[in-house]
Amino acid sequence: TNFNELGLAEPLLRALTEEGYTTPTPIQARAIPIALTGRDLLGIAQTGTGKTAAFALPILHRLAEQGGRPPRGGCRALILSPTRELASQIAASFKAYGRHMGLSVGIVFGGQAMGPQQRMLHAGVDVLVATPGRLLDHLSSRTTRLDHVKILVLDEADQMLDAGFLPAIRKLVAQTPKDRQTLFFSATMPAEIGKLAAEMLITPERVAV
Ligand code: AMP
Repeated sequence: TNFNELGLAEPLLRALTEEGYTTPTPIQARAIPIALTGRDLLGIAQTGTGKTAAFALPILHRLAEQGGRPPRGGCRALILSPTRELASQIAASFKAYGRHMGLSVGIVFGGQAMGPQQRMLHAGVDVLVATPGRLLDHLSSRTTRLDHVKILVLDEADQMLDAGFLPAIRKLVAQTPKDRQTLFFSATMPAEIGKLAAEMLITPERVAV
């Protein structure tokens, strides 16, 4: 398989060439066609397998295809990440792969001033990458709302469990629309993660690499 067989838009293929990517990794080859259809996905994959691009590429494709502008005070795609380091890497990947698409990418995590994050959220953003605790803080202060979310990604679900984020995640998910698309990734599937996946996903395709 190569990237142009996966159905991705030309500006994405151009960015991938510039990144030096020639061949999709196994998780990319299997997950991208599923995610492009709008179906829910349960991906069992570790960091280093290329899973960031496996969700970022179809999300950028679908947002560009749908057109429209970032919703005021909201976002169209929400990526939940357990750490600020991972969140920063994910945001950088969205910016790199989406560089020819004109979509906006914002990031929100703890340990930084609220003000700049509040201004970005207030203006609205296409893709928001966030750690759960800080995003909940912004929701409590009504800086942002999640009712425009079309695509939700839960990344590193098992790390979320270890960090004690499951209650925060359940609160965040409850504020997103029920008809969203959900992409759920975990390296391992302990019982509590299986239960969370069952709550969040509707008839998902399962991809394990
Ligand atoms: P990830 O598992 O998403 O953290 O990605 C691991 C690393 O692989 C990152 O540095 C990516 O830039 C790189 N990468 C992801 N997909 C590809 C690909 N298809 N070809 C070459 N490098 C890739």
